[in-house]
Amino acid sequence: MGEWEHGAIAESTRRTVTAALQRGLPVDVLVPAAGAPAAARIAGVERVLAITGDAAHAHVPETLGTQLRSFSNDYTLIVASHRNLGRSALPRAAALTDGAFLADVTDIDAQGRFTRGLYAGSVIARVTVTARVTLATVRASSFSAAEASGGAATIVETEPAPPFEKTKLVERQTSEQSRSDLSTARVVFSGGRGLASKDSMDRLGSLAERVGAALGASRAAVDAGYAPNAAQVGQTGKTVAPDVYFAFGISGAIQHLAGMKDSKVIVAVNNDPDAPIFSVADYGIVGDLFNVLGELEAHIDAKAT
Ligand SMILES: Cc1cc2nc3c(=O)[nH]c(=O)nc-3n(C[C@H](O)[C@H](O)[C@H](O)COP(=O)(O)OP(=O)(O)OC[C@H]3O[C@@H](n4cnc5c(N)ncnc54)[C@H](O)[C@@H]3O)c2cc1C
Repeated sequence: MGEWEHGAIAESTRRTVTAALQRGLPVDVLVPAAGAPAAARIAGVERVLAITGDAAHAHVPETLGTQLRSFSNDYTLIVASHRNLGRSALPRAAALTDGAFLADVTDIDAQGRFTRGLYAGSVIARVTVTARVTLATVRASSFSAAEASGGAATIVETEPAPPFEKTKLVERQTSEQSRSDLSTARVVFSGGRGLASKDSMDRLGSLAERVGAALGASRAAVDAGYAPNAAQVGQTGKTVAPDVYFAFGISGAIQHLAGMKDSKVIVAVNNDPDAPIFSVADYGIVGDLFNVLGELEAHIDAKAT
């Protein structure tokens, strides 16, 4: 299942294609018709199922669940990114088709075995499914993105499912701070309670924006109103695995680590040398985060001039 948003195919869709290709079977992508030409160019895709009609219905999970059911006889595996839409639509489709639903899958092999974390990632489960069709959401950050070009898939027009009348999509909005997709960003600057104010979080956000990084936050920082919900990283927030994860004033509670410990390089800034975040950090700075922020800003200012 592909996602078409802000006039483009979401990067997580290309990562979902990689996940599906690992199963070793032909891969088709379902998207609203406006996104079909871009989806058809994704390397490795065989066919694009273009939903005609009002694209807004394709963003309503109940309608999408019915749409997916209509394909369930033709496919043994239906995957979507583990984002809001997939998380809402796939369990519905699984219930309608008597299929098996698996959430937050981090690996798929050619034998049809799935890997997923349990208990905030402390247990890694290998799962095989006996149901005829499996519907799985995949963790985008665990898969590389398929090339956006090079493919030449056939586009097949698909009738939209009857819209679910009880839910109406009025508008889709992106907040300023979540413009860069946290789940697939290559660099994340994340702030915790140590930032002590929304102003400091905004300052971290500006720095992140200047270097093309996404802004993340601990739950304590979100609960304190420093950052929006969409920025939360962790067990009950987003799971990220960027090339570099900067943690400013984050203690490193297990629930936070669950969402970022697979980052390739972790840099932690904390004035407590015993903070648990240092146990997963590749680089640690024991000191005041405001001094480190100031140094970074000065360095970036100097580069910009
Ligand atoms: C069911 C459940 C789910 C949860 N889900 C999540 C989740 O998804 N994500 C998440 O993050 N948390 C989650 N939590 C909360 C988690 O347990 C922690 O409470 C939270 O992560 C703490 O956030 P923090 O590190 O910002 O704050 P704190 O633990 O208060 O840490 C602040 C850190 O900042 C440092 N500091 C303070 N001032 C400075 C300074 N000037 N310079 C440098 N360092 C400084 C301190 O030394 C401290 O280590 C969950 C909890 C539960 C029970």
